[in-house]
Formats: sequence, C-alpha cells, structure tokens
Amino acid sequence: MESGIYQFRNIITDQKYIGSAFILTKRKEEHLACLRKNKHHSYKFQQSFNEFGEDKFEYSILQYINKLEIESKKDFRLRLVNDREQFYLDTLLFASENNSKFDDFAYNINRKADSNLGSLFTQEHKDRIGQSQRESIYNQKVRKSKAFRDKIRKITSIKYQCIHCKIKCDLRNLRRWHNDNCHLNPNRTQLSIDNELKSINKMKNSKANTKSINYET
Ligand SMILES: [Zn+2]
Repeated sequence: MESGIYQFRNIITDQKYIGSAFILTKRKEEHLACLRKNKHHSYKFQQSFNEFGEDKFEYSILQYINKLEIESKKDFRLRLVNDREQFYLDTLLFASENNSKFDDFAYNINRKADSNLGSLFTQEHKDRIGQSQRESIYNQKVRKSKAFRDKIRKITSIKYQCIHCKIKCDLRNLRRWHNDNCHLNPNRTQLSIDNELKSINKMKNSKANTKSINYET
C-alpha cells in the first residue's frame, strides 16, 4: 500500500484534479467509479469527464509519501494533506493566488487541503459536504459571469491539431470531424462514418432549401 499525491489531467484543456490518498490505488478507483456513475463530488470534474470522455484523462502520481515509523498517524496526515497536497494545489493550480486561475485550471472545489475534516469523516463524506450548495453556486454565478464567458471564448479560440490529417481547428470541430472521427483515421468506426454521412446529407438538404428560396436573386 502506497500513499501520496496524485493528479487527473485533462489532456485537451490541461485542467487538473489533485488529491492525496493513504492508499493511492484505492482512491484512484473510487474517483473513476464515481465519475463513471456520474456521481463525482466535483461538479466541474464530472462535467468535463462527461464532455471529453474517460480516455482524455491521464492519471499520474506526483509524489509518493510514506508514513515514517516514528510518525503518528495524525502527524502523517498533516504532512500528507496540509503540507504536500497544499504544496501541489498552490504550485500547479495557483490555489494561493488571489485570482481566478484556480477556477480556470482546477477541478478541485476547495483551495485549501484540509486534514481536519478527514479525521472526523471518511473521504467520501468529506467530499459530499456542501456539494449541493457548491453546484448551485457554480450554476448560478459562474455560468453568468464574464470570466466564464471569457473562458468559453478562450477555449473556442484555441486551435487543436488533428492527429491524422494535421488540420487545425477549434475543439468542437476537432471532436466532431477529426481525431477518432477523422476521415484519415484507419480505425474509424462505422458509427462515426454513418454520422458523418447523415450530417453531409443534412447540409446538402439545407443548401438545396436555401437555393430554392433565393431563386430570384
Ligand atoms: Zn483530421
């Protein structure tokens, strides 16, 4: 059994979820099980997981930290969570900076890693505390905020390159027409080919309609 700090990273947007665990392997499986069931405590993480798909998330261990023999369980928890996890939240997710970078880059909800809650509750309980309030605040405030709109604009202005045809386009088009769905992808599934044909037919039909309306011009 190994303890330490881990991260889940969205390889498209570079957003991250950072956490600490006494048993890394177990915690990883807990996260994945929650995400697959659409029940993850982090609304942001869940939403992104649903949108991008599991294969766009990369799991890695940032640091192994093991309990010293002379250390009490409580001291170890403080070192693991309040010291090490906080270090990574601050350095990789800008948690200590008084700006919106943390909200942009982090799937974590809290800027502070807190081991006190962990001593009273299990990790799962800790995760669920305040979840519904946070979700509704996220919905009401963040979605309406200028920062959120700017973020969406920023995401659509970023160009990504298709791994097959090398064309550059925004994320929406990339996901729809390229990478797995690219016409040059030799492993493209019949389903995506069917979808593409459907879309092309739709476009043809709408063009035909436009023509018939505009026949006078
Ligand atoms: Zn392509």
